[in-house]
Amino acid sequence: MTTTSFSGARRYIAVLGTGGTIAGSSAQAGANLGYTAGTVPVSTLVDGIEVPDGFILHTEQVAQLDSKDMDLDTWHALQLRCEHWLAQDEVAGLVITHGTDTIEETSFFLHSVLQSPKPVVLTCAMRPATSSNADGPQNLRDALAVATAADATGVVVVCAGEVHCATDVRKVHPYRLNAFGSGDAGPIAYVEEGKVRLLRSWPYEGMPEPKSDRKSLPAGDRWHRVEIVLSHAGARSDLIDGLIRERQDGHPEAVAGIVLAATGNGGVHHVLEQAALRAQAAGIVVLVATRCAEGRIIPAPDSLLPMAVDLSPVKARIALLLQLRDKVKTSH
Ligand code: ASP
Repeated sequence: MTTTSFSGARRYIAVLGTGGTIAGSSAQAGANLGYTAGTVPVSTLVDGIEVPDGFILHTEQVAQLDSKDMDLDTWHALQLRCEHWLAQDEVAGLVITHGTDTIEETSFFLHSVLQSPKPVVLTCAMRPATSSNADGPQNLRDALAVATAADATGVVVVCAGEVHCATDVRKVHPYRLNAFGSGDAGPIAYVEEGKVRLLRSWPYEGMPEPKSDRKSLPAGDRWHRVEIVLSHAGARSDLIDGLIRERQDGHPEAVAGIVLAATGNGGVHHVLEQAALRAQAAGIVVLVATRCAEGRIIPAPDSLLPMAVDLSPVKARIALLLQLRDKVKTSH
């Protein structure tokens, strides 16, 4: 844990490192592929990055991993460090360096649990820090521009000059530098030469209601298990039936929730739908989210299963994890 003595009226941006390609390095000088994510310390990443006037950076390494391997314990640790820094009067906002693979999940998780109106800006890179054309430094500069913008609030993702709201953002491309999209909603702002051009309002209105007891969240291994099952042509019920069996057998890690990644407007293969109804009857919470990359579900009056209308399957899973966690907290 880091302790810092803040001085005077200076304003700080806490830059929290979690790894990713932005902190990646390759044994082959200058290469864009074939690197190891999460090796360069965040303190090195900010070296030589110009800081907006009147601000000072404070770095902290919270994790150092490839974000494809993100886990609930790391989210828990990150949440606690965000809460710590956001509570300091001298801290104007946070920047979090993160891998691109699960940045949409981490940002949505933080959006769902943090209460501060201060900006929390996640940023990333598609090329490693050792690339001869690394995109991380510019993304970091843009993230600092957003974190220090006078009116910025809420949790956002900054990449390739675009600012995306945590609720809408998705990784949409495996290679190109502007790898993110926000579907129908589009980015909420652009960063141009260090200036933020806001297209619509900051996402603070979307922040959840304050909840009590935030500091005593369970560590990851005490969270419920929630799985995502994809509906597709030729879908079979075996996966869901196996999960029901584990639950009925009293397996210690039996599933508590299932997100069905549905086709189109919440459509689920009839075989999976029947299995999901059996799962519900066995006490498993089921939620349907569309696997479409854009748009939202418009629920039909005869829907048999509950819908997460405007969340992708991975974000619906986080919503369900938090819903189940809150249930446990209140039932104890
Ligand atoms: N696998 C990397 C990660 O998510 C990819 C990236 O950051 O672009 O950490």
